[in-house]
Amino acid sequence: MPPAIDLLEAGRMAKCVVHRAQIADGSLPSICIVCGDRADHRLFAGVGSPSLAWAMVSPLFGLLAFWGSTLRDAGQSPGGFPFCERHRNYWPRRARFIVFGFVSLLVLMGIGFAFTPRPAPGEEVEAHWMLGVAGLWLLIYLPTFLFMHLAAVRPTGGDPGSVVLSGASRPFVVAIESEQKGDEAKSRRADAHDGPQKVARPRPT
Ligand SMILES: [Zn+2]
Repeated sequence: MPPAIDLLEAGRMAKCVVHRAQIADGSLPSICIVCGDRADHRLFAGVGSPSLAWAMVSPLFGLLAFWGSTLRDAGQSPGGFPFCERHRNYWPRRARFIVFGFVSLLVLMGIGFAFTPRPAPGEEVEAHWMLGVAGLWLLIYLPTFLFMHLAAVRPTGGDPGSVVLSGASRPFVVAIESEQKGDEAKSRRADAHDGPQKVARPRPT
């Protein structure tokens, strides 16, 4: 397999489950979710907030809701996802293209329709040239948007307690998974420790 495809398979397709509590308190491993380098920034705590959970499961609104939220939430916050210096604008950069591209499409179409004169009876409708510009922009915007969206590291699902993150860097996924395995083992040990005590407790008479 060529290294590029190998990298794509290994890095891009990775999915991991991230607890919302860890997003909120900033306790995720300090590994950039995009490239796997050391992450000095915690950003976009809002993406993990349960208020946005509904958007993640609705593919259509989820798209714009997610990208819109990364634009609103671009400041440094105590919680959030780990990003390195180079990738701190990874989501806002894409969001600007996706959201403003969509808005300009609507504006171009709106202007085009508004200025298209009503045809006199028997005359053909002559569309305003702005509609041609809108059509051209749609041809550029749609494939670019799809590629940008699908290839991006982004949340693709979740439940009230966690978010599924797709495309995260391999080092981040490995760190998260080993952390979660450690937690599981700890809680198993705690259960085993609690077990005999429960049995030993005197029954009420
Ligand atoms: Zn990075």
